[in-house]
Amino acid sequence: MSDQVSDIRTCGRPTKSGKPCRVRLYGFDVACGVHATEHDRELAQAYGRGHNEGLRLGKEKWSGEQRIEWLEQRVKELEALLDEASRVYEVDGDQVVEVGKYAYRWRGSMPLEVGDRVLLPENWLSRMKDGPGAYQDVVTKLGSTYRGEMSRILSRVSKQ
Ligand SMILES: [Zn+2]
Repeated sequence: MSDQVSDIRTCGRPTKSGKPCRVRLYGFDVACGVHATEHDRELAQAYGRGHNEGLRLGKEKWSGEQRIEWLEQRVKELEALLDEASRVYEVDGDQVVEVGKYAYRWRGSMPLEVGDRVLLPENWLSRMKDGPGAYQDVVTKLGSTYRGEMSRILSRVSKQ
C-alpha cells in the first residue's frame, strides 16, 4: 500500500465522451469527487481505517495472528466498556465492593478502598480452607457487576 503514495493514480471511470476520467486520485480515494459513489467513499474510508490499524501495528498487511490479536484487543476494550456501564457501586445505600471473585456490601462510616483489609463472614469455601468463623481478606475492586444476593462485610480491619 505504501507504493500507492508515489504511484500516480487516476479515476478511470467512464466519462460522457467515453474516455476514462483522468482526474488524479489521492490517498485511499477509489474515484474522483465527481465520479465517486457513496459506496466508493465508504470503501476509501474503510481502506483508510484498515491502513491506520496496520500502521498502528507497524505492519502494512495483517497476518491471521495479527487480526486475531486485534480482535481480541477490541473484545477486551468492549468488555471493559460493558463492565463499566453495568458496574454498580451502591445497593440500597450500601457500598458494593469485590473481594476476589465475590461481591459484598458494606455499611460503614468510611467507604472502603481497594487494598483495605476486611473481615468477612464465613462461607463454605472459607470453612473448608480456614475452618469455621469470620476470616480476613482484601478489597480488590470497587463496585460489582454481580446482581444477586451479597453478604455484608463485618468490619474493616485496616486501611490500605
Ligand atoms: Zn472521475
